[in-house]
Amino acid sequence: MENHNNRLTKRILSLSFIGIICSSVVFAQSENYVFNRKPLDQNVSVQLPLGSIKAKGWLLKQLEMQKDGATGMAEDLYPEDDNLGKNSDWLGGKGSGWERVPYYVKGLIALAYTLDDAGLKNKAQKYIDWTLNNQQANGLFGPPKMKDWWPRMPMMYALQSYYEATSDKRVIPFLTKYFKYELANLDADPLKEWGKSRAGDNMEIAIWLYNKTGDQFLLSLVEKLKNQAYPWTDIYSENQFFFYGDDFQPKHMVNVAQALKLPLVYAQANALPIYRTAMAKGIEHIMHDHGQPEGLGSGTEFLAGRSSTQGVETCTVVEWMQSLETAARVLSDANIGDQLEKVAFNALPAQFSHDFKNHTYYTLPNQVQGVWGEHGFNQDYASGIVSSPYSGYGCCRYNMHMGWPYYVKNSWVATPDGGLAIVSYGPMEVEALVGEHKKIKITEDTNYPFDEQIKLGLTLTSATDFPLSLRIPSWSIKPEIKLNGTVLKDVKAGEIYKIARTWNNGDQLELNFPMQIKSQQEVNNSVSIERGPMVYALEISSASKIIKEHSVKGFADYEIKPTSPWNYGLVLNNGAISKAIKIEKTVMPENPFDGIKTPIKLKLKAKRIPEWGMAYNNISAFDVPFSPVLSNEQEEEITLIPYGAESIRLSCFPTIGKPIKTVKNLDENFTNAMPLNWVFYGGGWYWKDGAVHSASNASSGGFGIHGSKIIATGTDFSDFTYQADVNVNTAGDAGLMFRVSDPAIGADAYKGYYVGINPISGNIEMGKASNQKWVVISSAKYPVKMNNNYKLKLVAKGNQFNVFLDGSEKAILSATDNEYGSGSIGLRTYNAQATFDSVKVKSL
Ligand SMILES: [Zn+2]
Repeated sequence: MENHNNRLTKRILSLSFIGIICSSVVFAQSENYVFNRKPLDQNVSVQLPLGSIKAKGWLLKQLEMQKDGATGMAEDLYPEDDNLGKNSDWLGGKGSGWERVPYYVKGLIALAYTLDDAGLKNKAQKYIDWTLNNQQANGLFGPPKMKDWWPRMPMMYALQSYYEATSDKRVIPFLTKYFKYELANLDADPLKEWGKSRAGDNMEIAIWLYNKTGDQFLLSLVEKLKNQAYPWTDIYSENQFFFYGDDFQPKHMVNVAQALKLPLVYAQANALPIYRTAMAKGIEHIMHDHGQPEGLGSGTEFLAGRSSTQGVETCTVVEWMQSLETAARVLSDANIGDQLEKVAFNALPAQFSHDFKNHTYYTLPNQVQGVWGEHGFNQDYASGIVSSPYSGYGCCRYNMHMGWPYYVKNSWVATPDGGLAIVSYGPMEVEALVGEHKKIKITEDTNYPFDEQIKLGLTLTSATDFPLSLRIPSWSIKPEIKLNGTVLKDVKAGEIYKIARTWNNGDQLELNFPMQIKSQQEVNNSVSIERGPMVYALEISSASKIIKEHSVKGFADYEIKPTSPWNYGLVLNNGAISKAIKIEKTVMPENPFDGIKTPIKLKLKAKRIPEWGMAYNNISAFDVPFSPVLSNEQEEEITLIPYGAESIRLSCFPTIGKPIKTVKNLDENFTNAMPLNWVFYGGGWYWKDGAVHSASNASSGGFGIHGSKIIATGTDFSDFTYQADVNVNTAGDAGLMFRVSDPAIGADAYKGYYVGINPISGNIEMGKASNQKWVVISSAKYPVKMNNNYKLKLVAKGNQFNVFLDGSEKAILSATDNEYGSGSIGLRTYNAQATFDSVKVKSL
């Protein structure tokens, strides 16, 4: 779209303080790093300065590919005035870069100093210099004509990282001056849209600066920003993403991922428990209603439900990671690192091509091909799942660069007790200060997560007292830590294990986190397969075809199609999943996210499901069929490889067995939450006040908004009575679906019947989707009013259908049709918002 502004567009603080060979000395860590000043929470860890942590092994390989690929070549790929061109407004030119330059520089700076690469530093410096040298007298920075608080927020992160790496004296007074300007002007020009959504970023940097300078006004600024932002604490705690009517911001998944950190950023200044629990509650709600196997929620771009053919945007992945990285410093909770690793090791690499030249705007858990075409997503882009430097809308291609460098930057933190803590693992080397200003180097020698062992080697100039806190992954079975060969006691999965002692040069820690194979329940009773932090997906042979070559050598758009079958269901025989699966390990390659060379593969038995194929649009597969599924095919052995090692994949697997669909009675009052296995196809659906509602899709560019449906996919009724409360809240119609099969996104993308009421036309209409076309079977007039609750009842017997309204004795509409004999029940709206409740289905 042209105009970005209008674009639509256990938790237990599992701290286990176990001191070994205890040292009673507590050091003032403030001599090493700048921690929270009072009155802020004194128990918060801080980032080590950018450049303190270097990547090694496979992780270094990702960064090097970024340098040679999408990040290093970005200025050549996007040279326009409005993008990264010489005429960018972030270099004083006439372009309109808005968020694009700040997004890019944020990731570029982090990559440049993590790699210690002069060329990349040089690329970043011109943007940093122009920004620092062109602050206006009033304090505003960035393009003077750009009247928007939001794009300045990612640039703050770039400046913070840059300062930590270089100590450039210009940064602190520059940010101080800007924040004074911001505080003075926010009342007259309050946060709106993206800024109102993403103010947590601004707050985080204001707190960082407060700790540097002690300027009290910065705490007032934090308060003001929090008050002007969306009430994210309530939104996450109470699952209110869809409560804002036509305003898309709180249901825009990138915002939701990015703002996850806001309550915890604010919790540093306000001790109310609600701020400390909001993120975890929010993630629980998101995963319940929109969760995907790779550890986050779908969003295309609105929150999009649990269907296996819904997408995850690249921006969501990197923002969700950054939120968890910030959260891990505020809460010492091992669970946060578990969640971070899951997204980093699965969702993140899945968004990129193996050479880090291309990304896809959306990835789908069951994405069996990557081709041009429309899906019907709320924000739909024909190039949205195409591997390209230009996939989808132009946000991800600028924002994605921070993913891996920020993972490295945030994996180790300095703790206020004078020590260090590991948030997330990987091959790295860290140089830091511990104890009384003592330099330490720790090498983290591992192929983790492709390996279960991690060796930490300490280099010190003299013996030093300090605590080292290690996250013990919650999934690990009998985790073990050895210190110089001696096994340590009381190491428990899901806790933070703190070793406080006098450390000597050459000390060695060996961590062993045995990984167990387990299954996770996904949409339509399907399963995803995990081993440790990794999610595994079907290995699909594929053919890539260049569909467009770009002027920058070596960059092209690829269409990827499967050349081997993908429609498999797993044969688990009710046994332990770990017994059904064999693990095959091969030598660790340079890049383990290259599917062909990936070092860990899983083998298990499966059967094909012939009736499961491509959806009507031929772009995506049908959603995974409801499990268990019958199959008379031969048993075959299939191979699973890491989710992130594939460009096309199947990760929500049906299981083979005897079907268990509900066929007698269904009683659903939507009392507590969105019921499991009510799956939505198109538009948005949400739970509020003991009822289910279709969401507003104002500003949506996709056609999924027309004919938005929610299907109880685990039901199969043939002759029955079906009654529900239907309340149409806007123009358009709403009603009941029945005998539905093969639902997909799109008004008539299903097989089955629908009867709807329309308050504007006063029509009750029954029809069917036949060959994806709407066919009216019968209609009648009835004085239906808007915002009025109707008991709509349908009796289906053979090919006879009778419709009753509000307890009428006589059918107000009767119809006959032979096409569909049985199927699921569901609810649907057509160009309307509506509320539904009290669903009762009884077999006749
Ligand atoms: Zn994006």
